[in-house]
Amino acid sequence: MLKRVELKERRFEEYRGQVPDALFSEVRQLAGKLKGARVLHVNATSAGGGVAEILRSELPLLQDLGLAVSWQVLEPQVDFFTVTKQIHNGLQGDAKNLSPQQWQLYEDYNRELAGHIDAAQWDFIKIHDPQPAAALEMMPIRQAKVTGTKWIWRCHIDSKHANPSYRDRFVRYLAPYDGLVFTMRKYLLEGLEPKKLAVIPMAIDPLADKNRLMDPIVAREIVRRFGIDPDRPLVCQVSRFDPWKDPLGVIEAWTLARREVPGLQLALVGDSSSDDPEGAVVLERVSQAAEGKADLFVLADRADDRAVRAFQTHADVIIQKSLREGFGLTVTEALWAGRPVIGTDVGGIPLQVEDGRSGYLISGPAEAAKRTAELIKNPQRAAAMGRYGHDSVKAKFLTPRLIRDDLKFMLELAER
Ligand code: UDP
Repeated sequence: MLKRVELKERRFEEYRGQVPDALFSEVRQLAGKLKGARVLHVNATSAGGGVAEILRSELPLLQDLGLAVSWQVLEPQVDFFTVTKQIHNGLQGDAKNLSPQQWQLYEDYNRELAGHIDAAQWDFIKIHDPQPAAALEMMPIRQAKVTGTKWIWRCHIDSKHANPSYRDRFVRYLAPYDGLVFTMRKYLLEGLEPKKLAVIPMAIDPLADKNRLMDPIVAREIVRRFGIDPDRPLVCQVSRFDPWKDPLGVIEAWTLARREVPGLQLALVGDSSSDDPEGAVVLERVSQAAEGKADLFVLADRADDRAVRAFQTHADVIIQKSLREGFGLTVTEALWAGRPVIGTDVGGIPLQVEDGRSGYLISGPAEAAKRTAELIKNPQRAAAMGRYGHDSVKAKFLTPRLIRDDLKFMLELAER
């Protein structure tokens, strides 16, 4: 039921110089206090989506810093993931409710999962997102906290507008946790009174292959291989094929922008995550909408990390037209690559895109189109925004800052 993910070897020492010295030393000092702490992380999948992305870089570093970390993921199970995708949607505000049978399936799975977690083996158990969230509630409390184990729930989604039928259940499932972590304070579910709360935004790993800065000439050559004409302007959205990422809205924005920028190309670069059964349906709709349209490239599961990086480096403008967005690592990555980002004013996007400085916050396709055309016609402004965006990521959204915040919170819980 739980599968262990192998952690690559990484050295925190390599981050010296990547972030301010004070932050680097603070991380070492905090980690020293947690040396040997046994920490289990459980999330849905090790591939696809932002959570896997973050854990892949953060956990090996925590290990190198002296914590005894284990990363375990759920074995894929279609029925369960169909239900949890709907739970994810419901927590993001979708009106469709689950049937009693579906809730039963969710709880049964979590009860079984609880049976596979031996709390006595861990000092901290960190559960990510809704899929395994109810495991603690399903476990006899004496067993769960037998050795003073601290349970943390880390929410990566935008739950500000949660549908009450999901919210009320989760208030119950989350009540026994020792600590809750949200990306933004406004995501805290109504009615939930956490014993301890932390607000910690995400981060990207500047040394991960996928975030290493790429020579524009190399990027140009890579996108060319996908059929893009590197001499004509390109806008791009990198995102899973998911209704909340609104790929159809991006197509609409591009269609409008093309009226002002003839020859403008659009690339929708996306992968499908193994816990997301909805992906195929959305992709089908996107493919239909793209049919017969020149200069529109739908690249589903075709772009590896390097290719994603190439698109984020080469595109004149990166769009993130999400309707909901927990944090939006694709936004961080694009800003880091020095591209201006045009994003909706939802979730974690306004935390990252400063309107008029590193890009623009927009509401609908018409505004996205107007801003896109504006930036493509004014490459100097676009470049200045790109530089500003890169510097803001360096200051706020790199992995060592995330590690510092996570360690601090664990220490707070340990000292309770
Ligand atoms: N991603 C990728 N290939 C794709 C699409 C996305 O590697 O074709 C990565 C992307 O670079 C980012 C992550 O998946 O690191 C998506 O994280 P984000 O927070 O933007 O969204 P989520 O999928 O978690 O909602």
